[in-house]
Amino acid sequence: MAIQRPKGTQDLLPGTVERWQYLEETMRNVCREYGYEEIRTPMFEATELFQRGVGQTTDIVKKEMYTFLDKGDRSMTLRPEMTAAVCRAYVEDKLYGRPQPVKLYYIGPMFRYERPQSGRFRQFHQFGVEVLGAEQAVVDAEGISLVWNLYQRLGLNRLEVHVNSVGCLVCRTKHRAQLQDFLTTRRDDLCRDCQDRFERNPLRILDCKNPNCQAATIGAPTTCDTLCEDCSTHFGRVLALLGAAGVVYRVNPRLVRGLDYYTKTAFEVMVEEIGAQSAICGGGRYDGLVEEIGGPPTPGFGFAMGLERVLAALQVQNLLPEGKSRLFAMLIALGEKAQIEGFSLLSALRTQGIPVSIDLLSRSLKTQLKSADRQGVRYALILGEEELKQKVLLIRDLTLGEQTMVPLITAVKEIIKMYRRGV
Ligand code: ATP
Ligand code: MG
Repeated sequence: MAIQRPKGTQDLLPGTVERWQYLEETMRNVCREYGYEEIRTPMFEATELFQRGVGQTTDIVKKEMYTFLDKGDRSMTLRPEMTAAVCRAYVEDKLYGRPQPVKLYYIGPMFRYERPQSGRFRQFHQFGVEVLGAEQAVVDAEGISLVWNLYQRLGLNRLEVHVNSVGCLVCRTKHRAQLQDFLTTRRDDLCRDCQDRFERNPLRILDCKNPNCQAATIGAPTTCDTLCEDCSTHFGRVLALLGAAGVVYRVNPRLVRGLDYYTKTAFEVMVEEIGAQSAICGGGRYDGLVEEIGGPPTPGFGFAMGLERVLAALQVQNLLPEGKSRLFAMLIALGEKAQIEGFSLLSALRTQGIPVSIDLLSRSLKTQLKSADRQGVRYALILGEEELKQKVLLIRDLTLGEQTMVPLITAVKEIIKMYRRGV
């Protein structure tokens, strides 16, 4: 039997890959405008990085990691997310020695062993940013506004931006106690996962999608209720700045994020139309993380968005540009001599940056014309025995059906002119 790709992975084929390029290009452009620079880190890291940086109690570390022993018996893990890796690089590559804060972005594949379903893959792709070395509220607001502006540029509609503050360690300790207190009598109503979370990470119970857990937490103390003065001021500033940037958001006091290292601001963006996996972006502040992985105390803020889910949202809202053929012309050379002459023409045009191709199957004129037209190519450059003899090139406009004859010697110049005119 033919070998198949692993479950939860995808082949991105021509026709689809152009959509990815469009999305990635838009992301890169927005990052440039906001002054974020790209970082690339390895696809795999020491397992311990994620255990410490993502947190032992998280779904990611508990059940979703692709972990293996390499031939040197070192435990390695395919990266399930980027924040921990970027923080590692910040420490290891001494980015704290550069002007602060550093504003980084990344685009690339992540790996999680999850149950594949619509909007959930085992290899998926994230675009994200991390800002390290500044604790100011304006950092959080700038990051969320970047997300907002990216979605505006893509034309996305019916976005829901939820914002919350989960507080610092002090607020969270207080909240944790109040929440456990509140849930003690309701503990039996919780799902198995949440019974587990009760001791280790009760905050996450607020975030559980199970209807019983949602019912059990109605009226539960939220993180907003226990914010200290510093966290409360910070949150107020973030909201004021978001308003100033024109971001339409909603404060959702139940929003908590899956990762242990979040402090203060947490946010998520949803598009309901794409189904159960409606979160297209999530992020927040993580002031304790760099220290957690052995670096100097460093405040941080970041987010990550799933490219597959953003593309799904663009698709249901009909916002994807059509992938057009990028070939300007197809050279149809008939016979060996014509092919040699044509090949040099082709090379001159390509040197000028004009996308042109040649039939690789040595087919008949009629077949080649048909195939060029089907591919959406604008011009056919026809070079047969007769043309060779007369030292001319026949240029046929496949859209209009018109054709002109130009001397071979000026053909390159002529085609460059046509290309620059955009016809
Ligand atoms: P979810 O609750 O959907 O599992 P998460 O909290 O695990 O999301 P994050 O770790 O915050 O997600 O990742 C940020 C974004 O990456 C998500 O909002 C989503 O768009 C995307 N994402 C996460 N896991 C997957 C996956 N398995 N397949 C596709 N996209 C994903
Ligand atoms: Mg998840």
